[in-house]
Amino acid sequence: MSSVMLASYEMTEKMPQYPVRWITTELAVGYAPGSYNDLAAIRAQGVAAIVNLCAECYDLVDIEKNAGFDVYYIPIPDEKEAESYLKGYPMDALRSKKAFICDMDGVIYHGNQLLPGVSKFLDWLRKEHKKFLFLTNSSERSPRELREKMLRLTVQINEDHFYTSALATAEFLARQCPEGSAFVIGEAGLTKALYDAGFSMNDTNPDYVVVGETRNYSYDRLERAVHLVGNGAKLIGTNPDLTDPTEKGIVPATGALIAPIELATGSKAYFVGKPNPLMMRHALKRLGCRREETVIVGDRMDTDIIAGLESEIETVLVLSGVTSREGLERFAYRPRYILDGVGDIVP
Ligand SMILES: [Mg+2]
Repeated sequence: MSSVMLASYEMTEKMPQYPVRWITTELAVGYAPGSYNDLAAIRAQGVAAIVNLCAECYDLVDIEKNAGFDVYYIPIPDEKEAESYLKGYPMDALRSKKAFICDMDGVIYHGNQLLPGVSKFLDWLRKEHKKFLFLTNSSERSPRELREKMLRLTVQINEDHFYTSALATAEFLARQCPEGSAFVIGEAGLTKALYDAGFSMNDTNPDYVVVGETRNYSYDRLERAVHLVGNGAKLIGTNPDLTDPTEKGIVPATGALIAPIELATGSKAYFVGKPNPLMMRHALKRLGCRREETVIVGDRMDTDIIAGLESEIETVLVLSGVTSREGLERFAYRPRYILDGVGDIVP
């Protein structure tokens, strides 16, 4: 892998600090904030070319003459812009998208902490009249509860900007079996979504057993669910996540809660949430946008990014959540853009 050093136009008297940042994408990019005299050391670190953001920088003349580096001039005053430019995915193309589908945990907050750059990003979405939807695989909270959670984090977002796996599940089931019935292991957010979609609750002979995140998980409910699935009810999970991250550490999520029912009945559940591209199609329909006009922003390769890829929506991985740059390499696919956080989308 060849590397590129980005030199900033700000020249200082200090020795170079290279590479300050390595971005291990297809094209590794380093960034040096100062002047660079010690070219042998730069080369020893794998730098094959130098990108200068200002053609007037006199140091480049020496580099070109003496060291034989490839030198590029890119008139973009930021190393991230330069990186995406070099890779052929300009940030302008990302910013010109009409709609943004954003994952929540690890993208806009982590637990009860708002992530840096989120307010700036929201202001930009509004100022630019972008359409946006915050999407979560968790089926525990209703859009109203999510709005309240965001308010506690000092961010105002209207209810209709939230889309949960509970809503997607209700929409999917209403189409599969209009005015059907369900036995639910889950929270009010899920039950309400099903009621709103025309479903009724039934614990004797429902069409479906639907499982989502819940803190009220009991042996009685589990036993009932096993009997109902044994009697022919179809088993549905709102989302396949096995765990959810919280401030206390990980907690069991829908995938883990539904597993005992699958094991006891020998039935395999159908999961509606990410990475099922169904959730993305529903989100597009809500936004009223085509996939070409839309981008998905997420922090997980195995849910957000794969869901985007499989629905052919442009993908942005943010490193503010569970995926690290090193962790990326384990996957057979990659996102289009890799950014530190949503704040980087704003010019
Ligand atoms: Mg996430």
